[in-house]
Amino acid sequence: SNNLMAGKRGLIMGLANDKSIAWGIAKACADAGAELAFSYQGDALKKRVAPLAAQLGSDVVLPCDVSDMASVDALFSELEQHWGTLDFVVHAIGFSDKNELRGRYVDTSRDNFMMTMDISVYSFTAVMQRAEKMMNAGGSALTLTYYGAEQVMPHYNVMGVAKAALEASVKYLAEDLGKDGIRVNAISAGPIKTLAASGIGDFRYILKWNELNSPLRRNVTIDDVGRSALYLLSDLGSGVTGENLHVDAGYHIVGMKAVDAPDI
Ligand code: NAD
Repeated sequence: SNNLMAGKRGLIMGLANDKSIAWGIAKACADAGAELAFSYQGDALKKRVAPLAAQLGSDVVLPCDVSDMASVDALFSELEQHWGTLDFVVHAIGFSDKNELRGRYVDTSRDNFMMTMDISVYSFTAVMQRAEKMMNAGGSALTLTYYGAEQVMPHYNVMGVAKAALEASVKYLAEDLGKDGIRVNAISAGPIKTLAASGIGDFRYILKWNELNSPLRRNVTIDDVGRSALYLLSDLGSGVTGENLHVDAGYHIVGMKAVDAPDI
């Protein structure tokens, strides 16, 4: 435990259960002294999110479906009444029809393309539009992305295209909000077995491949992501914005399979 986030108030969006990347980040922030609020998608998740929030000393648990702008407005007006100001935001939200997270990208439907972009990309911009008004200089925002934005990964398909757009939006948001001293960054996490990831075809194979081929020869955990998030969300990251920090056991730097290679 440390005091890196003492006196800071943050909103965590995208907590579904204790496997969620949002949970790893929330734990690291709470451990560092942050005061937290949580948003959840739909009533079914409230009964999971409220007890987790309570474990971290939070009773600010508010609904928000990011595909509905009235719901995003309601979240921020509630938060404004409750806190007035906000120091950080974590956006750990993505969604696509799992039938299109297998097979060929070229077969993506227009409806799912638009929905994936709306929930996984536009929502971060919509959130920052509102969060900006509650944030002062020193504020920090973080979203989650994946290497499938940069390189073609099996089955990631339309989500890879969405993450590429999300990564570009991080840079535009960093420029716009940087004038007010608000930082905007992304973490590109290695594969982690979560609810969202279970929708991706051959996910177990992808996990094994990353374990065997990453420089650290292991997969990352939600706690690895949480510790790096702490750097970007706290004043340790005060000079960093528009960045995409790879928390992937180094996988993204590898150009060629290093272990289990056949003798050639
Ligand atoms: P998760 O299933 O625990 O979290 C995804 C969250 O998105 C859930 O809480 C869900 O409620 C929320 N969500 C989906 N649609 C929503 C909507 N319309 N409104 C509000 N919330 C909505 O899975 P996770 O893996 O922790 O995902 C968090 C983020 O991390 C996602 O952006 C994901 O793409 C990204 N990511 C995941 C991995 C991985 O391997 N798990 C790797 C890199 C990046």
